[in-house]
Amino acid sequence: MILFFQFDIPADIAVFGGDHLLVFQCPTHNDAVVAQGAPEQLPPGFWDTPPPLYTAPGAFWRIMLHRDDTSPAANPDEYLRPRRLDLRPAAEHVTIWWPGDVLSDGQDLDSAFNAHGIGLREFKIGGVPSWIQGREFYTCPCGNDLVYLCQLPTDTGFDKHHDRPEQLDTFRFGQYGLFLGNETYVLACPAHCHPAAAWPVNQN
Ligand SMILES: [Zn+2]
Ligand SMILES: [Zn+2]
Repeated sequence: MILFFQFDIPADIAVFGGDHLLVFQCPTHNDAVVAQGAPEQLPPGFWDTPPPLYTAPGAFWRIMLHRDDTSPAANPDEYLRPRRLDLRPAAEHVTIWWPGDVLSDGQDLDSAFNAHGIGLREFKIGGVPSWIQGREFYTCPCGNDLVYLCQLPTDTGFDKHHDRPEQLDTFRFGQYGLFLGNETYVLACPAHCHPAAAWPVNQN
């Protein structure tokens, strides 16, 4: 699999601060991850064998989340050009788009924004997901509700090496993307019950 990106999660991110996240996808399979076959209560063994798709016999992606003391891999990724990811603190902007549909008279604003607010459509760790098709909830096989960790905006491209083929169904020549370029919200198990207990919710 291709390593698309990785980072140390900043210490001030709730639940996952101090973890290391790595996101992989197969070089020859490219698709959206759909919730079909993945009910809100994820079944036992889900992280060992995430559901296959029509276009891929098994899971064509993998997200690892751990805090073990490991060292860098000896070899760089063979498909993508190495890039440095610089993180900086930023302010979130939370919006309620259809307040007439979701707010009731007298509701206090903090709880209204917690229940219905969506954040900016940016690459970010923490903050509030932008949920362009509405919120989704999943419960881990271990019984904990998955918690939002980070998101990728639509059509986030990663530069490929010149000698590598174009990605199947790419949205931009010269780049590879995750999940057909869908906006992606990574939800993960707060109990760290499995080193791959992270689920990429796709929306567009
Ligand atoms: Zn594959
Ligand atoms: Zn779990």
